Amino acid sequence: MAIKKTEAIVLKSIKSGETSKIVTVYSQASGVIKFIAKGSRSIKSRHWGCLEPLNYILLHYYEKPNRDLHFLSQVDIIQSFRDIRKDLNKTAFALAICEILIKTQYPAESSAILFKAVIESFSAINETKFSPINNFLGFLLRFIDLAGFHPDLQQCLNCHRTVENEAVYFDSAAGGILCGHCVLHETSILISARGLRYLNWLRKASQAEISRFQIPEDILQESEKALLAYLNFHIEGLEKLNTLDFMLRIR
Ligand SMILES: [Zn+2]
Repeated sequence: MAIKKTEAIVLKSIKSGETSKIVTVYSQASGVIKFIAKGSRSIKSRHWGCLEPLNYILLHYYEKPNRDLHFLSQVDIIQSFRDIRKDLNKTAFALAICEILIKTQYPAESSAILFKAVIESFSAINETKFSPINNFLGFLLRFIDLAGFHPDLQQCLNCHRTVENEAVYFDSAAGGILCGHCVLHETSILISARGLRYLNWLRKASQAEISRFQIPEDILQESEKALLAYLNFHIEGLEKLNTLDFMLRIR
């Protein structure tokens, strides 16, 4: 068995037997990987506390060829995002990113750009003094673009008119926005002119920039509704994000 080394984010960690864990990570080198960490739940283990969800780690593991469960060799924490863990709201949005990765990414399907987007989003959620939903929406739009479903947010898909200072309709089936004259589907979601300007800004802004602004709640809500509907429509397996359902219940 070859030893492999990669940076990774811990997505999920479940108990196995008396003292072990089965850990799912999103790795920079090989996409989603699962491995067994023997004895890691024992307080004497040198890996104790390293394999909690959201940790950014440097992972060494024994790769079992043609198997989907590997073995942990060694792990070191690069960043544990303490300020995310202290805040329930931040934790929910960071875990929602983990849930999207678990449901959509496959072993050996790695993307250095997506990995970087995850790390930047977690760092920004960790540091922001404002609502972390802003960073989550920034990640969501980046994820949709990287998955190849890049919605045009500047022109009406039907009449090709540039729409800047008016309310539009976000249409998942059509794959972008439609103006008030061209809207057809009942499923279209109304986005205010301010909401549309926000989405266009969000697409260009870095996560560090996104954290510096407090966005009005009504704009965040309409944008969240539109982006989640778009994601659900185009990417299989994302009909329901349990983490966000939980969040809605406690909001
Ligand atoms: Zn139009």
